[in-house]
Amino acid sequence: MADEQPWKAPSQAHLWRPYAQMQLLPPPVKAVRTEGSRIHLDDGRVLVDGIASWWTAAHGYNHPHILAAMHKQLDTMPHIMFGGLTHDPAIILSEKLVKIAPRGLNRVFFTDSGSVSVEVAMKMALQYWQNVGQPNKNKFICFRGSYHGDTFGAMAVSDPEDSMHKAFKSTVSHQFVLDIPSSEYSFAEFEDTLQAIAKNVAGIIVEPLVQAAEGMRFYSADTLEAIHRVAKANNILFIADEIATGFGRTGSLFACNEAGITPDIMCLGKALTGGCITLAATMTTEAIFEAFLADTQEKAFMHGPTYMANPLACSAAIASLELFQQEDRIAQAEAIETQLREDLFPLRFTEGVRDVRVKGAIGVVELDAETIDKVWFNQRFVELGVWIRPIKNVLYLMPALTISKDELSLLTNAIKQVVAEWLSGKA
Ligand SMILES: *Cc1c(COP(=O)(O)O)cnc(C)c1O
Repeated sequence: MADEQPWKAPSQAHLWRPYAQMQLLPPPVKAVRTEGSRIHLDDGRVLVDGIASWWTAAHGYNHPHILAAMHKQLDTMPHIMFGGLTHDPAIILSEKLVKIAPRGLNRVFFTDSGSVSVEVAMKMALQYWQNVGQPNKNKFICFRGSYHGDTFGAMAVSDPEDSMHKAFKSTVSHQFVLDIPSSEYSFAEFEDTLQAIAKNVAGIIVEPLVQAAEGMRFYSADTLEAIHRVAKANNILFIADEIATGFGRTGSLFACNEAGITPDIMCLGKALTGGCITLAATMTTEAIFEAFLADTQEKAFMHGPTYMANPLACSAAIASLELFQQEDRIAQAEAIETQLREDLFPLRFTEGVRDVRVKGAIGVVELDAETIDKVWFNQRFVELGVWIRPIKNVLYLMPALTISKDELSLLTNAIKQVVAEWLSGKA
């Protein structure tokens, strides 16, 4: 009985799982312990993790430096409200973030998840224009193929054709959705469009260099630089969502660095705490911050999550940033990039493979099919001792930056084997 209705099995009976048709979902595998790039399952099997728990565990799991910092904080003050009170973990983390962020991002607003940091970025942009007397600038531009989170504001600036948010199409507010200008698409056309709508646009939101959750699509630093330039020329705030790309993933500490740009607002999340606990941040410039200063309450930014700047999470993030200083994660990302190219590029010549692309510590094999049986792929990968979950028709790796060469080989070999099986019709 339980086998036929896995969502009613005892371990599943009260849980609702993410992005899942519960009726079709096989029982999930159960994790009991993690270390480095390995996930230990309750039945004794060990999986090498190819996606670092949704791209968070930059230093691998259970890094002793982060755990020690968290233990210390846990024993003294796991949480305190941020309204009216402050604490060292928030102060130190804000200083550290300002030091490493693109120059000019001088203020940090902490939240508890990436989606909420996007909501905060959007609210900041909207209220900024109100505060400077241009309330008609109240729309956003986003790009086709983008994903900025699952809350209503974030959904409104994610690709509207995407199945993830389709059910809410009629309620989600309408924003301008454009194609990322490329060599074919004329930049002039993009510029004309922005010029035409700029008087109603508060901001443009981008995933710099990598559109991640919608299918790991890449575009060049030149394109990013040009989008930024056109936005600034038209008095549109530039919001960089670095939740997926931040902290070394693309081969530089922030993807914006590769284009040499400072966004007006930047969102951070995912790897901010090295994958230990949830925390996100919205950073902005002193110029935007100053537009919220006034003699009355009226212009104040009205947002404040209950667990804002949670000290335990901040202590994890501080320790994570220390690791970026002490150990050369960027060099590790570059080494991963080299190996991913060597291991995966041969698949380019395989019929049935649409594209193979690598950017920093991201390796992508896009299959020549509109959809694939993702559950079959995931299960085959588990049987081979690796943890890989496809997006749409895309198999990708975003491992811990600390992953060993042998562990990475295991991952790329598993991809090659499962692709071969899929091509021979086993799926
Ligand atoms: C994951 C992600 C988000 C959402 O973050 P959550 O912590 O899941 O709310 C937003 N933007 C980008 C680019 C992401 O990759």
